[in-house]
Amino acid sequence: MERKRIALVAHDARKQDLVRWVAANIAALDGQIFWATGTTGRMVHEVHPDLELTMLKSGPLGGDQQIGAMIAEGRIDFLVFFVDAMTAQPHDVDVKALTRLATLYNVPMACNEATADMIIASPLFTDGYKPRPASFTGYEQRPL
Ligand code: PGA
Repeated sequence: MERKRIALVAHDARKQDLVRWVAANIAALDGQIFWATGTTGRMVHEVHPDLELTMLKSGPLGGDQQIGAMIAEGRIDFLVFFVDAMTAQPHDVDVKALTRLATLYNVPMACNEATADMIIASPLFTDGYKPRPASFTGYEQRPL
């Protein structure tokens, strides 16, 4: 199986849930390649030091935007983003930008644990499934 390039992000109130989710799914996740926002990454790394994980900047310091840029460049296969829907985030615009880019580029995105469970348990996770690439030809070739 081709290694999946997975981005991990969790808001503060959801970080423990994400660490638990990674542990619960370590068999499927082991061997994949990870990027994470700074604090989320540190917490995952503490429990799973063997995962190949690159830590980006902390979310409010630009980490969400770094992941968004990777998505725009076609470098992320799966975004696991455990969102705290009850707390206003100082970087709300970045959160919105990240979820928008994942939507735009047709990248599977789990904003809560149940969705992450379903994606990782799906046969499509292991069978080489490639999402249909987003096409922007009409937009890119719009008249100047
Ligand atoms: P953090 O960022 O992992 O550095 O806390 C997550 C976020 O976007 O809030």
